[in-house]
Amino acid sequence: MREKRLVAEEELLRQQEYMKKVRALHTKPMYAMVDTYGCQQNEADSEILRGMLLEMGYEPTTDEDLADVILLNSCAVREHAEMRILGNVGALKHGKRRKPDQVIGICGCMVQQAHMTEKVKKSFHHVDLVFGTHAVHRLPELLYQVLVAKKRVFAIEDTEHEIVEGLPVLRASKTKAWVSIMYGCNNFCSYCIVPYVRGRERSRAADVIVAEITALIEDGARDITLLGQNVNSYGLDRDDGVNFSELLRRLNAIPGKFRLRFMTSHPKDASKELFETMADCEKVCKHIHLPFQSGSDRVLKEMNRKYTREHYRDLIEYARSLMPDIAITSDVIVGFPTETEEDFSETLDLIETVGFDALFTFLYSRRNGTPAAKLADVSTKEERQERFERLLELQNEQSKEKNLRHLGTRIEVLIEADTPEEKNLLARCDDNRPVRFAGDPALVGKFAIVEITECAKWSMEGTVISIEP
Ligand code: SAH
Ligand code: SF4
Repeated sequence: MREKRLVAEEELLRQQEYMKKVRALHTKPMYAMVDTYGCQQNEADSEILRGMLLEMGYEPTTDEDLADVILLNSCAVREHAEMRILGNVGALKHGKRRKPDQVIGICGCMVQQAHMTEKVKKSFHHVDLVFGTHAVHRLPELLYQVLVAKKRVFAIEDTEHEIVEGLPVLRASKTKAWVSIMYGCNNFCSYCIVPYVRGRERSRAADVIVAEITALIEDGARDITLLGQNVNSYGLDRDDGVNFSELLRRLNAIPGKFRLRFMTSHPKDASKELFETMADCEKVCKHIHLPFQSGSDRVLKEMNRKYTREHYRDLIEYARSLMPDIAITSDVIVGFPTETEEDFSETLDLIETVGFDALFTFLYSRRNGTPAAKLADVSTKEERQERFERLLELQNEQSKEKNLRHLGTRIEVLIEADTPEEKNLLARCDDNRPVRFAGDPALVGKFAIVEITECAKWSMEGTVISIEP
């Protein structure tokens, strides 16, 4: 263990040297843009990429024409995301013609797949730099190679590195912070590409996480989301005896008023201990995102999810027995290759019986190299689309009904951001529901009590009753 950490520390020092070298190359103000696709894990990686770029002398920008470096942090979970990314990469060609020194890079999950890297190599000659999920920390070294050797650099390694701690981070918000507590996934759900592109589960040390979050809180952060593909298995790959519940307890003990959230939880690993810990810890938000994916036991088995609908319902029942108002959100896939109309009706039935506050609904997308990609479809595209719409309709009704229950009530919210909209302040309830109202932008970062005056499907509007001093 110690030896491995030493490697990570040496690697950090090496990259810090490259940051200095890149910085020394600049003769004018330089700008960089990082565009993020996909999940919060990617958002968190992008904040590290921006942090390293700033350290290398690149000011952040969102202007493609001004940017000297453009990085697209890509997603591979569904084909739709990949198509969008490739479309956007293609469109960057014209800008590069006008600005030949511009460096265009693609990183993240999509290019961790060999066939995608090949495609970029052959068909997108204006892309100078490609690196996968295991090379995020090597950006300084790779960018230096592109700038000095003036040739294309491809760094798609298969080997997972020890987690490199201590990289600079440029966070988008001072109030709200994403903190990865683990990387990778061991679950191999049969439809999912994530374990292939993000490698095996690697948990960060608990003391490093506690120190990072303590510093964030001291710096004014008030809403912390812990990230991992399956946070419930946090720590199982380490030998320091800290599991996810224990980590939550340690974080809950950090002084100050703030909120703790986490995602994602897997029903096979969400334990009674987890719900008991949530109920005990006043800073842990009473919200769980617990993807069920399908309501049919047969499909769940083919998805390799390792739980039944009965187990899922028991978990929800237990959570509600301890926290009656807990918000439950979930992910569901429609049109898994072998899903029949009967399977789908079981999904609708589960949705009806559980009553979700919100659902993220996805049409199944075939992913190269996953076991499910070999299964033949038993339904037509039209049938799947029609199911998808039926499901949305049911969920929209349910979400609205859940939201309407808040009408006229007073709720504590955290004011997260000032936006260009008429109701400019965006705030959030403990259960993650957004509430908008008009107010002074200086209030961002404060807790307030609001009275709910309007409810839509998921978002609400309110008026301020009181604000913390
Ligand atoms: N680790 C998390 C999230 C992974 S990806 C979890 O297990 O819950 C986020 C969501 O994308 C998944 O929950 C799933 O609903 C969806 N998803 C993953 N692969 C998919 C595919 N091939 N087609 C459609 N949706 C998919
Ligand atoms: Fe994909 Fe399943 Fe891992 Fe989530 S738990 S990332 S769905 S393999």
